[in-house]
Amino acid sequence: AVLATEPVESPLRSPFTVQYTKLFINNDFVDSVSGKTFPAVDPRSEEVSVEVARADVEDVDRAVKAARKAFEEGPWPRLPGCERARILNRMADLMDEHKDELSALDTLSMGKVYDFARLAEAPLAIGLFRYYAGWCDKTHGMVLPTDGSFHAYTLHEPIGVVGSILPWNAPFYLLAMKVAPALACGNTIVLKPAQQSPLSALLIAKLAAEAGLPEGALNVVTGYGDAGMHIASHMDVDKVAFTGSTEVGREIMVGAARSNLKPVILELGGKSPFIIFEDADMDAAVEQSHQAIFYNQGQMCVAGSRTFVHESVYDKYLERAKTRAENRVVGDPFKSGVEHGPQADKAQYNKVMSYIQAGKDDGARLVTGGNRVGCKGYYIQPTIFADVQDGMKICREEIFGPVMSVIKFKTVDEVIKRSNQSEYGLGATVMTKNVDTINTVTRALKAGTVWVNAYGILTPSAPFGGYKKSGFGRENGAYALANYQQVKSVIMPIYNPAY
Ligand code: NAD
Repeated sequence: AVLATEPVESPLRSPFTVQYTKLFINNDFVDSVSGKTFPAVDPRSEEVSVEVARADVEDVDRAVKAARKAFEEGPWPRLPGCERARILNRMADLMDEHKDELSALDTLSMGKVYDFARLAEAPLAIGLFRYYAGWCDKTHGMVLPTDGSFHAYTLHEPIGVVGSILPWNAPFYLLAMKVAPALACGNTIVLKPAQQSPLSALLIAKLAAEAGLPEGALNVVTGYGDAGMHIASHMDVDKVAFTGSTEVGREIMVGAARSNLKPVILELGGKSPFIIFEDADMDAAVEQSHQAIFYNQGQMCVAGSRTFVHESVYDKYLERAKTRAENRVVGDPFKSGVEHGPQADKAQYNKVMSYIQAGKDDGARLVTGGNRVGCKGYYIQPTIFADVQDGMKICREEIFGPVMSVIKFKTVDEVIKRSNQSEYGLGATVMTKNVDTINTVTRALKAGTVWVNAYGILTPSAPFGGYKKSGFGRENGAYALANYQQVKSVIMPIYNPAY
């Protein structure tokens, strides 16, 4: 891998002053009740960039109280849909104006490549706000046919106070996936970003208030898992939307079940197959499979982390995949031209390195990479293992790092079976020109999203979610509205059946 070491050139790229580091409750920045803070560590330097307020149980209670009041007494759930739409669109405009800063905050806290954050993910996140603004006055109940002399119809109502708990790998985009539809439906929110990436959520909350979102409608509590668990098990939170690891997802569900039996949406981990058939366009297959596992340093829930390659093109593919990985530009994620920054934090760095060791121990063939880059920051070389077998640890478990596992296959039926042999089922990619293979494989794969001759395309209208241990419920698209609405039936007799 090439290490980019030249200085960064734009003032926003680094260093810059982080403005907001306190909890955001009732449209105000406040210290935590205990006065405690936690460090946000810059993964490029391993140094603390800023201290952030740490929410405890009391702070979550305060935020839930604010959200409850805003829901029961405030204007937000009562506004006409077109008014909510106006505010969501204003939020989108303000985020667009601040997208450089929002992207920089994520790069600073978790090492996302700044240009990717700004050019790829920020527009997607902003697009979600505009998309759900469009739904505000278009989601409604229906008049129902009845089997008697009745008038029956449904009302769509907001659920109430929603707890949203986020991971750190795509902070802005994943926030938009949760906040935009919940607000569109008239709910109020207590949001907990991940401790590794708390900063962009605070700026977004400030922009939301500026856009006219009433106080208490969006509260942000920065902190660790204890704050997350208090949200999940809170008696006055009506719904929890969680994105993160399968392990924590299970705890969230237990917390929800043991408290007030609140419904949950879980978007969890993955081990997605990327299947390259013999007739695939090889240029596209090499590039797309490369991005599928190395984009965002491999820290994507839908990372194509099992690369199945047909035996007839296996050697040719491996040679080209190796060259592409070795040319990937690793370096300071603020710097233009860099493709690959550090892992998000020390724990992730250590976890990925231990999986690389496991790959070697289990007998996979190390084709390239496998080492740290430089001596400061959590940088890891884009790494490729070949001849990976289904039973190996690197083939079964989510690594969440830049480690490609290449697996040889012979037939369509075999690759379907082996792809589905995972306990996860989030994404999948099929690369082939054969329409029969496309139709067979897309239907057979147990995955919430299947990309054909592409990887990772997201669009606001397409629902996103998992099978099996990748979670349940769908976010994005019209499907996500149901996550944030109660449906009420209203039935009344018609006393003059003649009409
Ligand atoms: P994580 O599960 O460790 O943490 C996620 C969030 O939960 C954080 O805010 C954390 O503070 C909080 N948390 C931790 N312990 C908790 C507890 N006991 N109770 C309540 N909250 C708790 O995950 P992560 O390391 O932040 O993110 C990586 C994981 O997220 C990967 O497994 C990845 O696949 C998954 N992910 C899934 C999707 C998806 O849409 N399916 C998207 C992005 C990431």
